[in-house]
Amino acid sequence: MKILVANLGSTSLKYRLFDFGEGEEALVTRGGFERVEDYREAVDACLRELKEGGFIASEDDLAAVGFKTVLADGVTGCVRLDQRVLEAMEVGNTVAPAHNPAYLMGVRVFSERMPRTPLIGLFETAFYQWIPETAKRYAVPAPWFEAGVRRWGFHGASHKFIAERSAELMGREDVAQRVRQLYVDGGAGQIEGSDLRVISCHLGGSSSVTGIRNGVAIGNSMGMSPQSGLPNNNRVGDVDGFALLHMMRTKGYGPDEIERQLCRDAGLKGLSGGFNDLRDIQAQAATGNEGAQLALDFLIDETRRWLGAYLVPLNGLDALVFTAGIGENRSEIRAGICAELDGLGIRLDPAKNEAVRAEEAEISAADSKTKIFVIPTNEELVVGREVKRFLENN
Ligand code: AMP
Repeated sequence: MKILVANLGSTSLKYRLFDFGEGEEALVTRGGFERVEDYREAVDACLRELKEGGFIASEDDLAAVGFKTVLADGVTGCVRLDQRVLEAMEVGNTVAPAHNPAYLMGVRVFSERMPRTPLIGLFETAFYQWIPETAKRYAVPAPWFEAGVRRWGFHGASHKFIAERSAELMGREDVAQRVRQLYVDGGAGQIEGSDLRVISCHLGGSSSVTGIRNGVAIGNSMGMSPQSGLPNNNRVGDVDGFALLHMMRTKGYGPDEIERQLCRDAGLKGLSGGFNDLRDIQAQAATGNEGAQLALDFLIDETRRWLGAYLVPLNGLDALVFTAGIGENRSEIRAGICAELDGLGIRLDPAKNEAVRAEEAEISAADSKTKIFVIPTNEELVVGREVKRFLENN
């Protein structure tokens, strides 16, 4: 069963083609396009590459196209992207302006090009369906909550991948199995022995931290929108809501200007004075740019703050995981986050940390109570697996 997974950014389209057999899953090919201005051209180019490469004979060879959709009003989990769901995603445009419009556009283009092929979305919020009620809420008046002002959590595909893979690496097949079945039974299966407590740090262009007990998330640093929690490359991260009122009243900014600035000119770019790629920020910091150094320190300290936010409710930590572009590639950031945590039983091995090159590795010191791992994430595989299950059950 061939499933194409499309990962749509505001100016990019990346894809992976999987072939799922009985108990087997193979990545057939992958590709992508940057600086996309016209999604029609990008989708056509993707389908052309698949055909010219001999990976499919025609669009009909694809059992489905899967999408890592972000947010929809009143919809989560793995669902068919029909008109009802697309309308619910449109409501999410205000909250996820950097993400949802790209998906809406991309899905519409795929449905024009392949009207017979099921288009299925696994929403990024799906992993957080079972977090405690307190982790879902803000202390707002009831009508606000009813209007959708609540914490959702994002990066669900990535953190779910880490939940499963870290359990395998910790020798906890019972927990790994629970993660595989999570979207079927909501984590109902029995766990043998002690709790497995994991914190997953997805640090990339977009960043978040998730606490996970026995394969089930207890919360995510992103709240109602993917502009909250940690600073992102150019999106803001946590900011007091009254800051918006202050800027509206003192500077005369309207909602569009606020959105533009907080989604494009903020985050690491705002702090560093215009640099949003961590490689550039580190190069700038090395030349004495104080804003760039502040951006690095801020990312490290905010990640540590969220580590603390989950260490306490988990009552300790068995595995700390780093993933995504920065988590997999930047040893200095990992070292900064793990500095002086030996009182909590978390101790990095500096040589192992330095030696990692975007590969799966354990980087904790021999006497560290908490295992520390680098695990390259595979969000598309998580989407592909759930899409396969959806097709089998529907
Ligand atoms: P992502 O959104 O997961 O692709 O992560 C993007 C971020 O990771 C950018 O800030 C990059 O600077 C950083 N990054 C990605 N790949 C590398 C690499 N090979 N070496 C260093 N940094 C990287």
